[in-house]
Amino acid sequence: MEGGLGAPERHPLDWKSDSFYDTDAIDAELRRVFDICHGCRLCFNLCDSFPRLFDLIDESDSGELDTVDSADFKPVVDACTLCDMCFMSTCPYTPPHEFQLDFPHLMLRYRATEHKQGKTPFWDQQMTKTDRNGKLAGLVAPVANWATDRGNRITRPILEDIADVDRNADLPKFHAKSFTAHAVHPPARNAEAPAAARKAVLYATCFVNYNNPAIGTATQAILAANGVETEVVYPECCGMPQLEQGDLEDVARRAKNVALTLKPWIEDGHDVIALVPSCALMLKFEWPLMLPDDPDIALLAGVTRDVAEYIVDIARNEGLVAEPKPLKGGVSLHLACHARAQNMGQKAAEMLRLIPEMDLKIIERCSGHGGSWGIKKDNFEVALKVGKNAARTAGREDKAHVASECPLAGVHMLQGMERLHAENPDTFKTPPSVASHPIELFAKACGLI
Ligand code: SF4
Ligand code: SF4
Repeated sequence: MEGGLGAPERHPLDWKSDSFYDTDAIDAELRRVFDICHGCRLCFNLCDSFPRLFDLIDESDSGELDTVDSADFKPVVDACTLCDMCFMSTCPYTPPHEFQLDFPHLMLRYRATEHKQGKTPFWDQQMTKTDRNGKLAGLVAPVANWATDRGNRITRPILEDIADVDRNADLPKFHAKSFTAHAVHPPARNAEAPAAARKAVLYATCFVNYNNPAIGTATQAILAANGVETEVVYPECCGMPQLEQGDLEDVARRAKNVALTLKPWIEDGHDVIALVPSCALMLKFEWPLMLPDDPDIALLAGVTRDVAEYIVDIARNEGLVAEPKPLKGGVSLHLACHARAQNMGQKAAEMLRLIPEMDLKIIERCSGHGGSWGIKKDNFEVALKVGKNAARTAGREDKAHVASECPLAGVHMLQGMERLHAENPDTFKTPPSVASHPIELFAKACGLI
């Protein structure tokens, strides 16, 4: 890692104690951490939180934190998307360093306190009820997709006025047939694969279930071709959107429910594969930090794998039965922050490099999206600004495919590329019409889709 000498150690979140929500204690901790950051400044270009913080302090009367009003801290907190990059890849002061800095979890503590005080806006809560919204929108998918389409000049201004969703932000499409409905008859495992085949449960994730089942069907096809039996189990969303809002009670309830539902499958020898990196991060790391004494959650965290991590593991250990063939045109691959935060190496890149003659451009900069954060009216332009470097890199490349492990980041990058191309068509290429998940490209190279 860039910062400290070893991997950072994250402490469990003390979210059940009253002192966690003590506003004086939070203010003292913000001041301690912000002062260290102001002296350090390493994170100046990671997101919008740090530039806001540094400008706030630099422009104060004394140029130091003592003349900054605590009320002005809120925009700094609001700009944090909880991407974890400052903690995982930059900061030299994370535990076990004596400074014990965990910037994202301090932002989370602030938000959890705001949530307890009833400050989470009503529409933010409604927009992030992904299971309810996905089920309802799926019933009327063509209408829902018409109404949420970026080009809709009737509905999008209304959505912007009511729910604060920027009219220019691309929103995920809904599918009438969810992944769990697709997966009722999983593809049969390849009988030519080794006898000691694996068994895996795919934790569908809300996004794959309601918005992009193709990621799930591609994964099932690859696994079946390599002798892995799969089942799809999806009790409910992992709660990442609620974590972003500081609703820790709700996240804990979801964690317990999902862990309990998956427990019999794990005890029956199934691995668990999460299809979206933010969700894998929740299952592997955030849930155990919130509920460190829950044995079901520890069991689940121990067997959860990111989808690319799992394919690479098969390739390394048993070898792939279904060998990929060259994929024409090359790939610009964005590595999602929440994949990088899993501390597992560049698994999506490793997976795509299993494809012969792969022409790969890796983009390790933040896309700027940040979950539900980047689609909001106050944040959308900031999100494009934060993601400009990633979009610029992809736009300069002349690759046939743009891929991201995070489907929302992929869509957001295309929007950034589209804008760059409109401003400077000689330098920046026309973006492809869709951003792929790397697993879809891998399935394509294997001739499975
Ligand atoms: S977690 Fe990400 S968005 Fe939040 S402060 Fe750190 S780098 Fe910025
Ligand atoms: S989070 Fe760490 S690396 Fe980043 S500015 Fe603060 S002290 Fe420096």
